[in-house]
Amino acid sequence: MKRYLGGRIIVQRGDITQLAVDAIVNAANNTLSGGGGVDGAIHRGAGPLLADACRALGGCRTGEAKITRGFRLPAKHVIHTVGPIWEDGRHGEDDLLARAYDNTLKVALENGIRTIAFPCISTGAYRFPAERASEIAVGVVTSFIDTHDGIEQVIFCCFNEDDYELYIEAVEQFV
Ligand code: ADP
Repeated sequence: MKRYLGGRIIVQRGDITQLAVDAIVNAANNTLSGGGGVDGAIHRGAGPLLADACRALGGCRTGEAKITRGFRLPAKHVIHTVGPIWEDGRHGEDDLLARAYDNTLKVALENGIRTIAFPCISTGAYRFPAERASEIAVGVVTSFIDTHDGIEQVIFCCFNEDDYELYIEAVEQFV
């Protein structure tokens, strides 16, 4: 684990479903009906009430974010956001990924969330190049927390060693 900005940003390896924070972020799909990857892990950890809560939200557009409780997870809430599916980089993917991070942080702030953990949105099944995604994620998060004191701590929760190294490099460029 690495800490930056007095602990306001943390880069760590691990399983996001184990984190006892105010909110964990789900890299969901437009239907919010659950899926593989981190989405599947979050639904398994939260239990079936999460699917019921998601159904009531009526889906989520790419780049937007919606909140539920965390149910059986150690995290109090889940913020579901939908990152872009990577095509070739010329279909607004960078902007949509930035909006997914930014809108997630806005929803967090509106709901009094002070500690939040992100997975590497869009870099699994959605195939967004991981290094490019890490730079976008870190850029949006550092500029957001710079201007909003309400977010006390952001954890970048990297499931694999390669992502962990990429995030350390990206954060060290920005802070
Ligand atoms: P997407 O469809 O947005 O690409 P994926 O879930 O396929 O979402 O992958 C996003 C990232 O989440 C990948 O880097 C993957 O390694 C990571 N991931 C998968 N399971 C977990 C988990 N339990 N905790 C944290 N990250 C996870």
